[in-house]
Amino acid sequence: MTGALHLIGRTLPDDQPVQLWVVDGILHTEPVADATTICESGWILPGLVDAHCHVGIRFGGGHTDHDEMVADARVEREAGVLLLRDAGSPVDTRILDAYEDLPRIIRAGRHLARPKRYIRDLSIDLADPERLPDAVAEQARAGDGWVKLVGDWIDREVGDLAPLWSPEILKAAIDAAHAEGARVTAHVFGEQALVDLVGAGIDCIEHGTGLTDETIEMMVEHDTALVPTLINIETFPQIADGAGKFPRYADHMRDLHRRVADTIGRAHDAGIRIFAGTDAGGSIRHGRIADEIAALIGVGLSPLEALGAASWDAREWLGRPGLEPGQRADLVVYREDPRTPAGVPDHPDLTVVGRHVFRP
Ligand SMILES: [Zn+2]
Repeated sequence: MTGALHLIGRTLPDDQPVQLWVVDGILHTEPVADATTICESGWILPGLVDAHCHVGIRFGGGHTDHDEMVADARVEREAGVLLLRDAGSPVDTRILDAYEDLPRIIRAGRHLARPKRYIRDLSIDLADPERLPDAVAEQARAGDGWVKLVGDWIDREVGDLAPLWSPEILKAAIDAAHAEGARVTAHVFGEQALVDLVGAGIDCIEHGTGLTDETIEMMVEHDTALVPTLINIETFPQIADGAGKFPRYADHMRDLHRRVADTIGRAHDAGIRIFAGTDAGGSIRHGRIADEIAALIGVGLSPLEALGAASWDAREWLGRPGLEPGQRADLVVYREDPRTPAGVPDHPDLTVVGRHVFRP
């Protein structure tokens, strides 16, 4: 589409009437002559955010190639996701930056783990855990301001979830990331690793199913963010079913799953900042942000909070603009009020990415 565009609607969270113009893919809030009106009513939101989305990991396992990355990013766009934080990718996705109609990606480099302590072929596995601070600094330089650690995983000798790193190494590693200007997040399912990671000053926790009153309080104190990836937690019973030789681990996973609504609900009640992430990639299909928004409402976020967790609040947290003049037009429009107990439709009624306009 060429020429100036014009949109009329209401914005959230303030619920005020708004008019926007798009010229050469850039947002304007002052009237522009001869613009084509593409939206006369509806709710206009900053493009949705999936804060945990692996475009580099193939569904079912393995690394995605170029065409699969483009296809996966397109599916995210069709769901209204125009910004994603990859939370770790085994492949370099920067080739996608050349496509101006695809979502923007905030990269976290490669997952950092130890041998046999994460999904095969995805992580950099450190035989010597003392190397973690150096490895973190390298990944901080390779990413876009985030580093991803594997905080806990099954330890086959213990037969249960167990932390990968000592509290001392974590402190040194997180300090090293901060010295590079990067934030750190970690995959955590169980209880103990949360004590160590939050105590060491980590910036965000992924999953967080093992949160207790103690670690919830610690996260509030440290202002640690949480991306619970609730639709991924739904796969825990399958993980448990496949854990034949490790009954203690299987029971632990089933228990974490059974309590998840209460756990994340209590974290929200305590005031922890929660953001929407689907964990699309290996075990979750792309394009499911609407399901995660609905799941967040299901554990106690209001519809407006859950939308903010997948749009304006997530953008502010990630340091990316919302509907701001002079910035690339990244927005979605819902014809009906999206603040419903069931969440939002799977596809917005209109999506604008720079100079590109999409309707389902
Ligand atoms: Zn993930």
